[in-house]
Order: sequence, then structure tokens, then C-alpha cells
Amino acid sequence: MMSYEKLLEHIGSERRTWLVTGAAGFIGSNLLEMLLRLDQNVVGLDNLSTGSRSNLIQVMQAVGDVRWSNFRFIEGDIRALETCQAACQSVEVVLHQAALGSVPRSMEDPIGTNESNVTGSLNMLVAARDAKVRRFVYAASSSTYGDHPQSLKVESRIGKPLSPYALTKYVNELYAEIFARCYGLPSIGLRYFNVFGPRQDPDGAYAAVIPKWISAMLRNETVHINGDGTTARDFCYIDNVVQANLQAAMVEEPDAVNQIYNVAMNMQTSLNELFEIIRELLAPHYPGVQTMQPAYREFRAGDMHMSRADIGKAMRLLGYQPVWPVREGLERAIDWYISRLADSPSANRRLPNSAPGMGDAAEHGLDATSIY
Ligand code: NAD
Repeated sequence: MMSYEKLLEHIGSERRTWLVTGAAGFIGSNLLEMLLRLDQNVVGLDNLSTGSRSNLIQVMQAVGDVRWSNFRFIEGDIRALETCQAACQSVEVVLHQAALGSVPRSMEDPIGTNESNVTGSLNMLVAARDAKVRRFVYAASSSTYGDHPQSLKVESRIGKPLSPYALTKYVNELYAEIFARCYGLPSIGLRYFNVFGPRQDPDGAYAAVIPKWISAMLRNETVHINGDGTTARDFCYIDNVVQANLQAAMVEEPDAVNQIYNVAMNMQTSLNELFEIIRELLAPHYPGVQTMQPAYREFRAGDMHMSRADIGKAMRLLGYQPVWPVREGLERAIDWYISRLADSPSANRRLPNSAPGMGDAAEHGLDATSIY
């Protein structure tokens, strides 16, 4: 099995055509950037519902005009089969990321979530099968562990889904298995655990916990923690996720294909630790955050206390070696948040002596979505 460095060299030595669905989103745009840096041809498909043109522009700026010219963007919807078919033409590898994320969104709009996540993914499987792609790698989710009580998450032991979103991500796995069995489509599902990093949207009602907290602290708003802050998660920096996708795309051993893998760090970080790390990293730039404290409130029923991924299977079969623990990942990501929010008039930098938590009443708690 190749080291990651060798794998990158190997990919860069030959120009292939990749399709990244959800290319304008957080994870998709990071995959796009890496592939373009490796001089690959990339087709991106995105309906810009939760992703943004600004993410694509940032990739363009990062890779430069010459590499950017290897990218073709289709603004389109995976709910339309013909769009998926057009996008899959002449494609060797699909990295399917497009989906409507967020547990609360799925509670409010289970039909919309089902249409993008189940019908859309089924369309992508059909299109990939018909185009005879060599590999179909897709974003699965740690939410599939549902109510399984064990805090160490092992791929083969799952519980019942706890939300419409979790159900859709589990259905993706079942469909991929059926497409391997019935049509011989080679696929790999990656169960991401709480991914974070540059280009993850900090705004909106459905933002994930890390960008939401950073953004709240920069705006001098109160960060709420459900429970006493000992709740812990396996937060995974985006570069680890990019690594896992490339390994899943290229692995050749038959035993490694048509499998599901956890993608995480195998490290637990409590919410209190997370808050402290973020505060420490922001403080040199935004002195106002130094005195901030989180506000604690009731544990939320149904929230798992601890969650950590067993990543042994991905290490063994894919050669996955995550290199970015939470603190190091946050150190890298924080600059992106700072530059993104630098011009915000309410940023804490302008309020060096402000009292902790004296911003508006917005609440930034860790809700049940935190496993997703
Ligand atoms: P994101 O919202 O930033 O990206 C998703 C992208 O898909 C967006 O650009 C959006 O516009 C696009 N999209 C949504 N519906 C579409 C449709 N019908 N047609 C075309 N494009 C559509 O989210 P993300 O965090 O980058 O998530 C990427 C994938 O990873 C998703 O499948 C998500 O379920 C999965 N995932 C993410 C995490 C995480 O922590 N971020 C954890 C587990 C799983």
C-alpha cells in the first residue's frame, strides 16, 4: 500500500477526469482544490443551495488560472437524472458529496432532504453505473450510528437512525451496496465525523458547531453548551477527509472496495476543550474573546455523551493516516475565519474591553446535530 505522499505523486503523474458533486460546498471545494493542484481534470456539479460561488472563487485564487482551466462547472441539480448523466460523461472517478446536511433541517423538511439525499444519490448511482465509472466514492455519515450505545464507533455495529437526515445517509449506503451486488458498480462509502476547516459555512441556522462558535465569538455573542461541557466528539480536520477520499478513489485491493469506512481522528475532544482551544487561538487577534465564557444549559435528551471513531479499518485497508488533530486543524482554519470576518463591524477585535457574552441574544449551542 502506498504512503499518502506517494499516492499524491501517483495521481499527479496521470491526468484523469473526476466528478465532484457538491463542489461548491465545504468538503467538495476542498476536494476540488486538491485535485486541481494535482493537475487533474475536474467536473463540478452543484445547485448552489448550501454551497457558494465564493467557495469556487477561493479555489480559483488558490490554484491559479492555468489549473483552474481544467475545471468545468455544471450548475445543476442531482435530483435530475439527465443532469447526473451529463456530468458523468467520460468521468473515471466520482466523489459524491452533494447532499442537504444538518439534522434540524431534515426535521423541518424531511421531504426536501430525502429528495436531494436519497433520490439525488440514486440518480448519481444510476448515472455512474451507466457511464461505467471506475470508482464511486460517496459521503456517508457518522449519524448512521444512531442510537448505538457504544461510544467507540465500529463500522459493523450501528444503531437505529435518530433523524430523517441520518436515515437518508444510511439509505445511501444500502443503495451503494445494492449497486455493487446487482450491477457491479465499485463504490466506497466514507462515514465522516464532524468535519471542520476552511470554507465551512459559519452562517445560517444549520451551521456546524465549530464555524458557528468561532463566528459567534468574533461577533461577541454568547456560546451555549448543552450540559456541563464534558460531551466529546471526534472532530476531523478537512485535510484528513481529502486524504481518505483520494485513497478510496485509488485503492485497488478488491477487499478494500465496496466497503464503508469511518473517517475521523480517533481522538475525543470535549466541548470545554474545544471552546478553550478556539478562544486561545482567537485571542492574539481578538483580545475581546479572552474573558469570554460559555453559558451552560441543560443536556439535550438524545445527545450522545461521547463519540469516537475506530479508524482501524480505514488505516488497514485504505492506508489512511490522519495527520491533523483538532488543535493543529483549528490553527490552520482560524486564519480563514479571521480573514472572512475581518471586516465585520461587530467583530470582537473592535471591542477589546467588552464584557464576556454581551453580544446579541443569538444562541450558539451544540445541538443534537453534532453527530452528523
Ligand atoms: P455543504 O452544504 O457545504 O456541501 C454540500 C453541497 O451540495 C453544497 O454545495 C450544496 O449546494 C450541494 N447540493 C445540495 N443539494 C444538492 C442538489 N440537490 N443538487 C446539487 N447540489 C446539491 O456540506 P458539506 O459539509 O461539505 O457536506 C458534504 C457531504 O458530506 C454531504 O453529503 C454531507 O452529508 C456529508 N457529511 C458532512 C459532514 C460534516 O461534518 N461536514 C459529516 C458527515 C457527512
